[in-house]
Amino acid sequence: MAAARLGYRCHILTPEADSPAEQVSAAVTHGDYEDRAALRAFAQAVDVITFEFENVSAVGLDLLASLKPVRPSPAILRISQYRIAEKTFLNANGAPTAPWCPVETLDDLQAAVAALGLPSVLKTARFGYDGKGQATLRAPEDLVPAFEELNPKPLILESFVDYAAEISVIVARGSDGSYAAFSTVENRHRDHILDLTLAPAPLAPAIANAAQAMARRVADGLDLVGLLALEMFVDRNGRVLANEIAPRPHNSGHWTIDACPASQFELHIRAVAGLPLPAAERHSDAVMKNLVGPDETALWPAILRTPGLIPHLYGKKEARPGRKMGHVTRLFPRGGLPGAFGIAAALGPLAL
Ligand code: AMP
Repeated sequence: MAAARLGYRCHILTPEADSPAEQVSAAVTHGDYEDRAALRAFAQAVDVITFEFENVSAVGLDLLASLKPVRPSPAILRISQYRIAEKTFLNANGAPTAPWCPVETLDDLQAAVAALGLPSVLKTARFGYDGKGQATLRAPEDLVPAFEELNPKPLILESFVDYAAEISVIVARGSDGSYAAFSTVENRHRDHILDLTLAPAPLAPAIANAAQAMARRVADGLDLVGLLALEMFVDRNGRVLANEIAPRPHNSGHWTIDACPASQFELHIRAVAGLPLPAAERHSDAVMKNLVGPDETALWPAILRTPGLIPHLYGKKEARPGRKMGHVTRLFPRGGLPGAFGIAAALGPLAL
């Protein structure tokens, strides 16, 4: 929709029938992300290619990149798909993380726990999202069952961060090195799924600025062309630790559709299409609340009756538990983000 507003016609490649993106796009190719014939036909029909989902095939993207420009590059997607490469890259580029170790065998895990202590978090290196593919180890007897359950290997073990807040920064970067970053936001999760984003994060300016500087180092280090979210923790000492990158529009940036002259989606398209990047300014503060699963989606009629709630529904067919079906944004005057009670009141039927 952001691309259409800039005068572009979008062509979607997806394995899914009746996907939300194709409902609002000019053309669609249905095919698997590794279907070479579909990928070739798709590349022939378009001028430039991007992705808005991390679990696309990097091999498929390589084929596309041999035919048309792909932005961000497949190399950046590969880093984001493999936690060991991701943490190695972050640590080498001025983005400290919680201490971590790669874990291939049970012996590795025992050595890693001896080094990092408990509690700690064991994660699959690939295919984790929304808290899937990870386990918190609290006691020695947790090691074997968690190791056996988590697949595929390799895994990584990370120190448990007793965080004061989870935050993120979304940045856009053009091929000429032009750069724009949205405000640092706070993300609150429920059942490992993003529930609320507060924009801006209610943090001391020094902490919010440290997060901005870290996101810039990461984007420059990756030589990013496109848009990227950096997810971080703020620990109890106010230290910012990187957690992971997502080289695409991110759920913690959905508030920008309503609170900014140019949203994360517009900046993504501009960066990918080689257009000038405007500043990522916000005209309002905002709270974004996800609509997850059937229970929250059932509140839709009440949401529509509540003044001030800006509704977004994605057009997904089935509201399965844990599935993100849409979101709601509530705007506040700049500088006027309320505290917890004010936010709850402003969310009306969604204040749980
Ligand atoms: P991830 O898949 O790495 O984004 O992890 C999903 C969620 O698990 C994060 O948003 C945190 O809420 C939690 N989490 C992940 N890693 C850690 C950690 N090292 N310490 C504490 N909580 C974590």
